[in-house]
Amino acid sequence: MARRMRRVAALLLALALPAQAATVGSTDGVPVVDRLVVADLPAGQLSRFWFRAGETAIAQDWRVPVIVIRGARPGPRLLVTAGIHGDELNGIAVIHRLAARVDPAALAGTLVLVPGLNTPGLLASTREFPDGSNLNRTMPGAESGAADRYARALWTGLLRPNADAAVDLHTQSRGTAYVLYAFASTPRTRRMAELVGPDVIKMDTGEKGTVENELTRDGVPAITFELGRPESFDEATIGRALAGLENLMAEMAMLPGPVRATAPLVTNRIVAVRASRAGWMTLLAPLGSDVAKGQAIATIADAFGRVVETIVAPQAGRINTIATDPRRDAGDMAVRIVWWDPDPKCALGC
Ligand SMILES: [Zn+2]
Repeated sequence: MARRMRRVAALLLALALPAQAATVGSTDGVPVVDRLVVADLPAGQLSRFWFRAGETAIAQDWRVPVIVIRGARPGPRLLVTAGIHGDELNGIAVIHRLAARVDPAALAGTLVLVPGLNTPGLLASTREFPDGSNLNRTMPGAESGAADRYARALWTGLLRPNADAAVDLHTQSRGTAYVLYAFASTPRTRRMAELVGPDVIKMDTGEKGTVENELTRDGVPAITFELGRPESFDEATIGRALAGLENLMAEMAMLPGPVRATAPLVTNRIVAVRASRAGWMTLLAPLGSDVAKGQAIATIADAFGRVVETIVAPQAGRINTIATDPRRDAGDMAVRIVWWDPDPKCALGC
């Protein structure tokens, strides 16, 4: 009986949805949709959806969770996404907490929150989609290939139609760590990157197929915000990212309150510093530290602990990435160093 009542309630909920949210069913009262237009949702309210990003190879749905907070007052639509790489998790906690903190009655505009874009990658703890594709090089997708179709469903039914600005949350990959780090490519996205309060901004001409760059090229200013390390919920990082997003929302007049000043290091150049010998790496300069050209930044030891290489900084700058896995093959990255190149043609990235 209870199950039947739940089913009836779910059906009524689905029928109550506006026609623009193309409902195909519901799970535990959460509507399943394959198209979403947030402007048609009720104002002053939080709504949850399962977005159906096509079918798996066993003819079941790929589902992606979506939270929409439509403010009581009109304003811009801010899209915040996480987990397009399935081992990058901090952004998921950031979105869950943002959804719990923002009061729809106090919000101007709409928050469109996607806590986990790459469903199979998150399940398998892999950066990639199951066919080996990098979903964050696959946007806006295409009609051929599983990852292309999945990306196309997300792009056309969820992401592109519902964003006036966007922040795509990531972390570094397995075995490595970032400082809090934002990518931007235009004056407006540089400003957005400053507002979210990272340690370092990288002005970057971008890569084809990323959420950030495809949205920005299509007229929706977007940044990639890198939140430290993979495969964990890190409290300090999550707290900083939340404060940063709320600061961006204050500047966009979505939330009341003053806009906080931030002081990230803005850079436009990067170099990967690599081990030339295989072995056990010990870092001598911590993540986030400033290094001088020629400074020793790591040693490589052989199987008996004898140092066989001292790696030095080829360039002055800040260490924005480290390898956290001490096992290094010859040619593996030890750290990356970023810096600012004053050449005017590099102002928005080289
Ligand atoms: Zn990523």
